[in-house]
Amino acid sequence: MRRIFIAGNWKMNLNRTESVALATAVAKGAAEAKSVDVAVCPPSVYLDAVAQAVRGSSVGVGAQNMYFEAQGAFTGELSAAMLLDVGCRYAILGHSERRHVLGESDELINKKTHAALAASLTPIVCVGETLEQREAGRTADVIRTQVEGSLAGVSAEQMLGIVIAYEPVWAIGTGKTAAPAQAEEVHVDLRKLLAQRYNAEVGQAVVIQYGGSVNAKNAAELLSQPNVDGALVGGASLKAEDFLSIVQAGVSRT
Ligand code: PEP
Repeated sequence: MRRIFIAGNWKMNLNRTESVALATAVAKGAAEAKSVDVAVCPPSVYLDAVAQAVRGSSVGVGAQNMYFEAQGAFTGELSAAMLLDVGCRYAILGHSERRHVLGESDELINKKTHAALAASLTPIVCVGETLEQREAGRTADVIRTQVEGSLAGVSAEQMLGIVIAYEPVWAIGTGKTAAPAQAEEVHVDLRKLLAQRYNAEVGQAVVIQYGGSVNAKNAAELLSQPNVDGALVGGASLKAEDFLSIVQAGVSRT
């Protein structure tokens, strides 16, 4: 049985005081939402403080990125062990802003995925097509290529410990949400892909979030789709009230 998973990606926003206040409010507000998994992903410099703020609550903490090497001369990078050390449970990998603004390839995301799994961090692996690719009818091909590249060499057992976030690039930070049926269609395709690559059980068991301008108003409709198992939320995760409304929409689905 898949659990609904709502995660907030704070991106490069908020200062330390605001991060701790938001994390504290989310932890308090999510206390009753036991049927839903909830996580916050602050800027890396605030991971430690946020992990302390949510300690003892059900809210998990995730990093927005990580590097695949264990240690060494990789200026500016953070390893999976460092993230675990400051209390992370999750790592967002291959977010479209990292793919498109910072040039990350499927090959790099694949190395990070293996490093996260080896350290027992749960990777949230993001995939999604651009508007141009969708309009050219290439959505399914693009998603297949990203899944095959980002998840190369991942075993069936490991796959059960990975979350996929379907985030159409044209819907991220734009206010243009995918129609619930559009999201559902890609989520169904993703399950078929996983079933082909692994087996039917894996296809049905993997948690697949939708991300792209999810907010307090549209969350319930998106989450009403049977194959949408949660949301990766950017802008609307920066206000506790909005984010907790999305968590509540997840609770209503369970
Ligand atoms: C995201 O950052 O993953 C995201 C989906 O952002 P937004 O909700 O702002 O579109």
